[in-house]
Amino acid sequence: MSVLTIDGVWKTFHGHSVLRGIDLEVDPHEVVSLIGASGSGKSTLLRCVNLLETVDDGTIFLDGAEITDPRVNVDDVRKRLGIVFQSFNLFPHMTVLDNITLAPRQVHNAGRAQAEEQAHDLLARFGLAEKARAYPDQLSGGQQQRVAIIRALATQPRLMLLDEVTSALDPELVREVLGIIRELKESGMTMVITTHEMGFCRDISDTVCFLDGGVLVEQGPPEKIFTDPEHARTREFLSGVL
Ligand code: ADP
Ligand code: MG
Repeated sequence: MSVLTIDGVWKTFHGHSVLRGIDLEVDPHEVVSLIGASGSGKSTLLRCVNLLETVDDGTIFLDGAEITDPRVNVDDVRKRLGIVFQSFNLFPHMTVLDNITLAPRQVHNAGRAQAEEQAHDLLARFGLAEKARAYPDQLSGGQQQRVAIIRALATQPRLMLLDEVTSALDPELVREVLGIIRELKESGMTMVITTHEMGFCRDISDTVCFLDGGVLVEQGPPEKIFTDPEHARTREFLSGVL
C-alpha cells in the first residue's frame, strides 16, 4: 500500500487555483521530488499534506486513511509526518537536545531519559554529538538545518516532507544537509522533497514530478525526466535550471 496518495487535489486562493487536480502516489521507501518554477504550487502541496491548508477538492490518504476528512484529528496526522522547511524553525531559547526531545516528550509521551538517549543517538549518527548542549545561534546554518531534520526524525515519522531545506544556506553548507538527506534515503525513509538542487534531485529521487501552474505536468524516474521529458514545458524549465 502507498504511504501517501493524493487524489485530484485542488486548492484555490482568492479565486486563483494554485493546485489544479494533483494526483500523486508515494510508495514505502520512495523518494519523490517536486520540481518546478517558483509559484508552481510545490509548497502548497506539501502544506495540504501537512493539513496546514485545507484542500478545496480531492482527497489525501496517509497509509490508506483519508486525512482530508474534516473529522480527522489533525494532531494525530502530524504525529506521523516529519516536516522541515527552508527556514530553520528551531526554538532559539532551547538547547539542541531540548529542541529534539520536545515533540517526543510532549506529543508522543516519551520519558525524558528515553527521549534524550534517542536524541543523542541521532546527533551522533549525523555528526553533531558534541552540539547537544549548544543553542541554535551557536551553530552554523548547516548545523541548524541538520538539527531541524533530526528533530523531525525524532518522532519516527512515517513520511518526511522537506521543503527547500537548503535554499537559505550558503553554498558551502548545502552539501552537509544534502548528505543527511542521502543517508535518510539509504535508511529507507519515505520522503517528498522540493529542491532547486537539480543534480541532487536527479541523484536521490526515485520519482521526479514537474509542476507548472499547479498542474503536475509529468512524473517519472529522474533519468527519464532529466534526459527525455515528454512535455515541452518540462524541457523548457529544465533548460533554464540545468
Ligand atoms: P512554490 O512552492 O512552487 O514556489 P507555492 O505553493 O508557494 O509555490 O505558491 C503557489 C502559488 O500560491 C503562488 O502564486 C503563491 O503566491 C500562492 N499562495 C501560496 N500560499 C498562499 C496563501 N496563503 N494565500 C494566497 N496565495 C498563496
Ligand atoms: Mg515553495
